[in-house]
Amino acid sequence: MKIKFMGAARTVTGSCYILETNGHRFAVDCGMHQGNAEIEKRNWDVDIYEPGKIDFFLITHAHIDHSGLLPRMVQKGFNGQIYTTVPTRDLLEILLLDSAHIQEMEAQWKTKKHLRSGEKNIKPLYTQKDAEATFPMFKVISYDETFEPSPGVKVKFKDAGHILGASLIELWIEENEVTVKLVFSGDIGRPAQLMMEEPSIVDAADFLFLESTYGNRDHKNEDDSLNELAEAIAYSYGNKEKVIIPAFAVERTQEMMYCLYLLSKDGRLPPDMPVYLDSPLAIKATEIFRHHTKYLDEETRELIKKGEDPLYLPQLHFTPTTEESIAINNVPGPAIVISASGMADAGRIKHHLKHNIWREGASVVFVGFQAQGTTGRKIVDGAKKVRLFNEEIAVKARVFTINGFSAHAGQSQILEWLSHFQTRDMQVFLIHGEYSAQQLLAGLIKERFGFKVLIPGYLEETTLEPGRVLKREEYPERAAPRIDWNYILEDISARYARLKERRSYLESKPWVEQTEIRDRLLELDRVLMEINSEI
Ligand SMILES: [Zn+2]
Ligand SMILES: [Zn+2]
Repeated sequence: MKIKFMGAARTVTGSCYILETNGHRFAVDCGMHQGNAEIEKRNWDVDIYEPGKIDFFLITHAHIDHSGLLPRMVQKGFNGQIYTTVPTRDLLEILLLDSAHIQEMEAQWKTKKHLRSGEKNIKPLYTQKDAEATFPMFKVISYDETFEPSPGVKVKFKDAGHILGASLIELWIEENEVTVKLVFSGDIGRPAQLMMEEPSIVDAADFLFLESTYGNRDHKNEDDSLNELAEAIAYSYGNKEKVIIPAFAVERTQEMMYCLYLLSKDGRLPPDMPVYLDSPLAIKATEIFRHHTKYLDEETRELIKKGEDPLYLPQLHFTPTTEESIAINNVPGPAIVISASGMADAGRIKHHLKHNIWREGASVVFVGFQAQGTTGRKIVDGAKKVRLFNEEIAVKARVFTINGFSAHAGQSQILEWLSHFQTRDMQVFLIHGEYSAQQLLAGLIKERFGFKVLIPGYLEETTLEPGRVLKREEYPERAAPRIDWNYILEDISARYARLKERRSYLESKPWVEQTEIRDRLLELDRVLMEINSEI
């Protein structure tokens, strides 16, 4: 049996693992690659997945980094079944359409830019039509039910306690009359998370594919996180400014609403401070949460039974239309705005940041993981300025980074979950994490449990047999194409030399033009200084 790591290998996005066994070929997850332009190129280059030769997909949960390439696979010839839970399917029907819409808008925008420079139309990664073509392929299954999608492959989904309908997957593969058990952790939930059950316990596997997003740290405790949120609210309410919360539309937004409900019960949310849920997608996702209460944890179900509604506040406003969204920034005074995307890279949140991040007294509250290269990560890392809609904007608002709300298990919670495994000779593969976090976690796992641990690279292919890993093939040229630094640096030097040669022309230009050129050069100088201080 062979496994190929198509993404989330030493990174957190693009989860997809292709398995080949007994002449069958199938995959666990089909995530979109997110990050800088170089990483996102991988979404276009899907021929290496050979979509037409994938028999079926098993999808752990609805997050786009685990499912967002499904329409692309369908467009490129995938024609099998997609197994997942009912809430995951329902969430994916809105999330994939939304993702397709974003792709279409982006292509439109790029086309406009390209046409101006005389180039041709840009096609979107996939369209809403491609997304719709994906829906009939879903085949829903229940938690804890074993099924056999192809002969010799048995599968069971279990509650991962991560987001609504999220699963971890147990797989039993029979090859040459020997059965090997694989476990894919999916994303493991944080045990004390609001609304979600605890992650299911698994006690045996030959090969475990374990997420490691928070392999290097623990979350703060839940009460501290709620207090920090209350602090942000009190701070901006006192300053008559806004609290901006970038949040993923699914799960995090609903959890934030639940938190505001708790603060409101506690008298810590001023009743005259409006709360805007400014994301059409989050509004739809909230409906799906209401529809699938049976998948929520017992505490929440009890609350609902008593007639309480933890996803409702008297001062809550839904703003599905663009006009309503724009209007929020014309209303003076304090308010809380929850909007997407969670990493502040797309969507309406960028407008809210543009209007508020330069205002002293405002707050920006990050409640989710911020991947490398995103606007959110830059702000969290303390950037003094950020670029939004091609404009440099000063960061004057107070920035809160509240880690306690994560939907992922923290380091000690991952280790706790791992402690239930009884198979001593289990081979662990760390996936879905940044390399430094994975190395740290690998050390702890070896030390504490004695399990063998590997950290596969992007596109690595590994042959598995009971009790051992047979061969690891890496493709470093393809996984990380060499960057020609010599060429780039020489080119910059040559241009700079040319500019110096032409200084007298520069000085002969009208004064206003000279000041403009000066400002552009100062900007360049600042960028070079930044790069030098970062490396
Ligand atoms: Zn997830
Ligand atoms: Zn994930």
